[in-house]
Amino acid sequence: MDGGHEFPGNTIRFVNSGKQAEMVSAFNHELTHSGSHKTVHAVRDTENPEQLPDMDKYPRYGFANTRNGAFSAFNEAVTEMINLEMLYDYKIKNPGKKYLNNIEPCYQTNIIVFDAILEEAAKKLKQDKKFILDKVYLSYYDGNIKRLDFLEKAFGEGTLKKIANLRDDLPRSEELEGLVTDLLSDGKDVIEKLSEFKKSGNSSLPDEAGSE
Ligand SMILES: [Zn+2]
Repeated sequence: MDGGHEFPGNTIRFVNSGKQAEMVSAFNHELTHSGSHKTVHAVRDTENPEQLPDMDKYPRYGFANTRNGAFSAFNEAVTEMINLEMLYDYKIKNPGKKYLNNIEPCYQTNIIVFDAILEEAAKKLKQDKKFILDKVYLSYYDGNIKRLDFLEKAFGEGTLKKIANLRDDLPRSEELEGLVTDLLSDGKDVIEKLSEFKKSGNSSLPDEAGSE
């Protein structure tokens, strides 16, 4: 996939590759980012000039903190998960559009890891996976990161910090494996899937979500 999303200007950019499936997917992935973008204009409190606004929190893309990169890997996984769900829905409603059969997900390694983590969280908390995914998607769009507290309940205190610390859009395989080993009691299958990507040298294509 080749695309990006830029602020200011709220501009989506994608390459005309001539491949319809690729272009539709790239466009919708970037559109998803665009819908999740939050900007808060922080102003200095004139009565307490020594107090600086909490600039660390904003602006954000979905979960990703654009200043320090926190949550970037998780953010790309969720963006692409939403993108794929939308495209799948579109495909069901438009069976004539054959090119939709050729959608190649991006950030596949991120998705493999976080999908497994969310599934295990659902099991541990005795919830439907759908219930868990809805919470994540709502949090992605409304910016209320507290909705992710269920991850701490499922895997223990400090879990969100571990996820936040994957600050590259597409982390190295070792980093993803580290998180899997840390959180999942049986992450063998997931690590096996990751190593297949490593062997093929294709850690799945990133897009280039630009920020600000
Ligand atoms: Zn992206």
